[in-house]
Amino acid sequence: MADSKSILVVSAHAADFVWRAAGAIALYSSRGYRVRILCLSFGERGESQGAWKEPGMTIERVKEIRCSESTRAAKILGAEIRFFDSGDYPIVPSQGTIDQMVTEYRELQPEFVLTHSYRDPYNPDHPTANDITLKTRVYAQALGYPVSGKPLGAPPVFLFEPHQPEQCEFNPQVLLDVTPVWEIKQEAMKSMEAQRHLWEYYTDLGKRRGAQAVRNGGPKSIQYAEAFQRVYPQVTDHLS
Ligand SMILES: [Zn+2]
Repeated sequence: MADSKSILVVSAHAADFVWRAAGAIALYSSRGYRVRILCLSFGERGESQGAWKEPGMTIERVKEIRCSESTRAAKILGAEIRFFDSGDYPIVPSQGTIDQMVTEYRELQPEFVLTHSYRDPYNPDHPTANDITLKTRVYAQALGYPVSGKPLGAPPVFLFEPHQPEQCEFNPQVLLDVTPVWEIKQEAMKSMEAQRHLWEYYTDLGKRRGAQAVRNGGPKSIQYAEAFQRVYPQVTDHLS
């Protein structure tokens, strides 16, 4: 049974959660939530271009660099992080990893879950992470699934924004105001030295989503936002 409110974030690679959801992570961490990030892979083959440009680089060294960067970013955001080292290009989770993710769900009992979109023709590992996240959520609900812990309820799942949303059939349904924690997100992004080229890109995206949040009825104080898409219907007693 979880002691405090919590959220679960499943990231295919070491840095995905930073670009796509660091604002949400920092926001909920600042509200006293326990935020737990599960990284399926270090992204050592596919998302470590900067590191591979250094002479004499090895796969183990790249993993160490990415692990160190992500751990630093998670700390900046006030989150816990766990790495499964399931490889990348492709991510291949073992049955042990699947069971451990079910255990994570059952122990954490998260209020909501964040993960990747269903489609991403630029990186097949991202849909794999989506698939594993949704599957293990369902397994964690099943009384008969053979891992210990209290069965999971039905936490909503929000998909975070992929790099090129149109190609990924990503449709923003929620714009989360992350203005109060934007400086923290920036600091976390800057801990990702191997992907410096993305710092400015995601700053621009945050501004654009912020402007859209205001346009969609949010307060004018919103300067930065992150976009999410729901997997399951919202349950409510009034429409707004
Ligand atoms: Zn990735």
